[in-house]
Amino acid sequence: MDLERAPRETSLGPSIHAELSELDVLAEANRCLNCYDAPCTRACPTHIDVASFIQKIGTGNLKGSARVIMQANPMGASCARVCPTEDLCEGACVYADDDRPIRIGDLQRYATDWLVKSGVDLFQPGRATGKNIAIVGSGPAGLSATRELRRLGHAVTIFDANPALGGLNTYGIVPFRLPMDVALWEAQQVLKLGVDVHTGVSVGDDVAPSELIARFDAVILACGMGSVPPLGIPGEDLDGVWDALEFIERAKCGDGIRAPGPSVAVIGAGNTAIDALTCAKRLGAPRVTMYYRRGESDMTAYPFEYDFAKHEGVEFRWYCTPIRMLGEGPMVRAVEFVRTAPGRPSGTLARPLPAAIPGSEFVVEAQTVIRATGQSRLSDLIGGFGLAQSHGIVAVDETLRTSHPKVFAAGDCIFAKGSREAMVVEAAEQGKTAAASAHRMLCQAPAAITQSSVAQ
Ligand SMILES: Cc1cc2nc3c(=O)[nH]c(=O)nc-3n(C[C@H](O)[C@H](O)[C@H](O)COP(=O)(O)OP(=O)(O)OC[C@H]3O[C@@H](n4cnc5c(N)ncnc54)[C@H](O)[C@@H]3O)c2cc1C
Ligand code: SF4
Repeated sequence: MDLERAPRETSLGPSIHAELSELDVLAEANRCLNCYDAPCTRACPTHIDVASFIQKIGTGNLKGSARVIMQANPMGASCARVCPTEDLCEGACVYADDDRPIRIGDLQRYATDWLVKSGVDLFQPGRATGKNIAIVGSGPAGLSATRELRRLGHAVTIFDANPALGGLNTYGIVPFRLPMDVALWEAQQVLKLGVDVHTGVSVGDDVAPSELIARFDAVILACGMGSVPPLGIPGEDLDGVWDALEFIERAKCGDGIRAPGPSVAVIGAGNTAIDALTCAKRLGAPRVTMYYRRGESDMTAYPFEYDFAKHEGVEFRWYCTPIRMLGEGPMVRAVEFVRTAPGRPSGTLARPLPAAIPGSEFVVEAQTVIRATGQSRLSDLIGGFGLAQSHGIVAVDETLRTSHPKVFAAGDCIFAKGSREAMVVEAAEQGKTAAASAHRMLCQAPAAITQSSVAQ
């Protein structure tokens, strides 16, 4: 990757991750009971052998520890920072019942930080198979698939619309949770295996999906999701009204947002809303408020994210929805809301829509308004490949094969709303699965990565 083309990150204040002393690390590592049939490993979507990497930290074998992590999870360094561990490995730890689970995420960060600083390369490409595979999208799913395919000996060509690789790891996740240099390091580790890269190339616009299907032996679609859809209310086109993803990206890359104004309104209550809120706060806005049409118990952000936003000084308003934005010249200056009441239970809707309360309108001042109400789907791109889809979610079988026999899909583009949010660790695992399935199709053999593709 041409690192000159990578964006330059702006500091948005200290990391949310505490520094661990060597003493803390050893004390924590020595608490691990090395459980039989370890529940933490089962709870990790990439099935990292947690007890093994922790035991290696305990004996000072940091290279071995990092290898256990990165072998199972090509995004192991970013996952150490962004995984909702309370819901995954740490939530399954036998000590979780006492509210003192082993700090698996922190220990994983310790081992992978060592790897980043050491300059050691853990993996090598496999023996060339003569097969050539296209990857559309270089986020966690695309990079994970690429790494596995290179270790199996397939040639890989990545196409990404962005100037730099990494997808949301590079551009979307706030720097105080995941610094850009970690995301770029992870991408660089994959590229070191030898990959043909076309950045700034949008498949569907600059290159036709049919061309990829014709030119390559297989295609893995890992294009993620799209922008935040409009709210559909008057005034949304005023300056100062942002899509949350664009706001976070511009804040992270230091591109154009320096002072969001004294009062910022964020619409939505998911994890992206929390990231936009805390970003605005760290950009210096004194008053940052989240507005949500449902109640506190309905918010979809993780509890630890909500606690973090409260700690950063964000304010919260429940049961209200915006009905129009008010401007002064081209700039937004206020938002009109109406109060809402919980919707009546309905047989068809899992979460009934709240109803507006007539006459309860109120106006709040805001110089920046951020829409954080979910992401749209890339239906046109999926349609361009001629794939079966349900409202922009690519239909796949359990091997992640799509309705086209040469095309597989992984990551957010196959994410269907369920109990959990879309996650980096799920995208990484799906990238591995799609790579193994493409390999099986091309070589009529299971994906067995030989020991020679692991540097000793
Ligand atoms: C604000 C925010 C915060 C998040 N925080 C967390 C977190 O703390 N923890 C966590 O686990 N998850 C988090 N997530 C979710 C996580 O980032 C995603 O689940 C994950 O990045 C999905 O990986 P992906 O590879 O499927 O897609 P992406 O990371 O979205 O990558 C898709 C790539 O495809 C490229 N692409 C799209 N269309 C085209 C095209 N036509 N041609 C070429 N390239 C294309 C894009 O440029 C992009 O690089 C967060 C998401 C957001 C939006
Ligand atoms: S990748 Fe995430 S879920 Fe898996 S062990 Fe590491 S921190 Fe836990």
